[in-house]
Amino acid sequence: MSFRLKKLLLINPLNRTRKGLIIHKHVIYPPIGLGIIANLTPSDWEVEILDENFDEFEYKDADLVGLTALTSSVTRAYEIASIYKEKGIPTVLGGIHASMMPDEAMKLVDTVVVGEVESVWKNLIEDFDNGQMKSRYDGVLLPMEDAVRPARHLFHKDYKFASIQTTRGCPMRCEFCSVHTFNGRSYRLRPVEEVLDELETIDHELVYFVDDNLIGYGKRSQDRAIELFKGIVERGIKINWFASASMNFSDNEEVLEWAAKSGCRMVLLGIESERIDQLKDMNKNLNAKMGVASYDEVFRKINKYGIAVLGAFIYGLDTDTPESMSNRTEYINNADIDAVQATILTPLPGTVLFNRMLEDDKIIFNNFPEDWQHYHFADVVFKHDIMKPDVMLQEIKDNWDKLYNDVTLKKKFIRTLKNTKSSAAGIWSYGSNLQYYNLAFEHDRPQRDFAEEFGLDNFDASPFSINV
Ligand code: SF4
Repeated sequence: MSFRLKKLLLINPLNRTRKGLIIHKHVIYPPIGLGIIANLTPSDWEVEILDENFDEFEYKDADLVGLTALTSSVTRAYEIASIYKEKGIPTVLGGIHASMMPDEAMKLVDTVVVGEVESVWKNLIEDFDNGQMKSRYDGVLLPMEDAVRPARHLFHKDYKFASIQTTRGCPMRCEFCSVHTFNGRSYRLRPVEEVLDELETIDHELVYFVDDNLIGYGKRSQDRAIELFKGIVERGIKINWFASASMNFSDNEEVLEWAAKSGCRMVLLGIESERIDQLKDMNKNLNAKMGVASYDEVFRKINKYGIAVLGAFIYGLDTDTPESMSNRTEYINNADIDAVQATILTPLPGTVLFNRMLEDDKIIFNNFPEDWQHYHFADVVFKHDIMKPDVMLQEIKDNWDKLYNDVTLKKKFIRTLKNTKSSAAGIWSYGSNLQYYNLAFEHDRPQRDFAEEFGLDNFDASPFSINV
């Protein structure tokens, strides 16, 4: 009697309107959630990942199709799901968008996984086997001990960075963010030894810690960060890494010292605005409490340890005007911020911001699900109180020009080299700025490539973090 493995096809969809970034393989990261699902799937299944970051979609037969999507890629996810639904192949959608908009998703796919997948995937597969797959499964937040690792061998081999997660959840409640809704408000930490064991299995030298905040809040989290970084050094794990953290990253210099020793080259800080009133409006309380005057000291300390600062800022905040946005640009250009993420305020579903704008009838791109593809942070999707959308977009483009023009970038590059005394920090931040340039001007100007411009072969380090 022949035994046939069932086939699970997992798909990572790509926003069709913003494909520019994927020509730069060093700025994209493996779909870690799909890798975790693969490892949760019983052994009588064969699992394949179809990753649109690399492969043009081509229909493949399967018994079950699983998709993940951000808001900006969900339009494409629904498009692909419809191809399989037409053929009678069951489709499952999970990830942040489906979790925030389950009713919409349930109309367009057979099954929706809401929240973290770990607690429900095995039940879902059992139900599938019994012909009783439900239309919705609600995951619960599990502790991070014995966390399921992703099946890395299924990721495309051309990813330059490996990604790994060490914490989930965030106690803060920034108005524009859905992390605390999806992953909960308690900051859950994986045991350090388990993270180190997993790091030892990674064969990439470049690593992206996908945590929303690798360092966390308070003494316990700081101690744990130090233990993790020391562990990387003590076990001889040779990596260069990039992560996101809060402005409190520099509170404890021991954290910085061990971060640097363990291979940290750049850190993304959610700065958002240089104005306290705006920080308060968006509930960015940690930054507001610290006060903008202390930011220079934060950047200085981080740079002192050879680590570059990637500052994330938002343009188009409620109280922004052309003048205030121009002031933000001036602030950024004068501060010791090495790389700059300057995105447009985007109300993502599941956020307080989205609900508020919906209630006030401010959302312009509201023909869902088609319009979700505009929610990629480089388009104006809402009516601003002060600026008309096209005026605001043009103003922001003018600011991008001031942030990412050649003269500014070269000045920043030289300043980074001087402040960090690290060529890696200089190269990473310069490369990242070019990626943000590419995102900003994807449809207006030719894409730029650091390796080509500098005649570097095999250049592969310019990390970048944005949900496009
Ligand atoms: S933006 Fe960062 S600090 Fe704010 S809620 Fe989201 S993850 Fe937490």
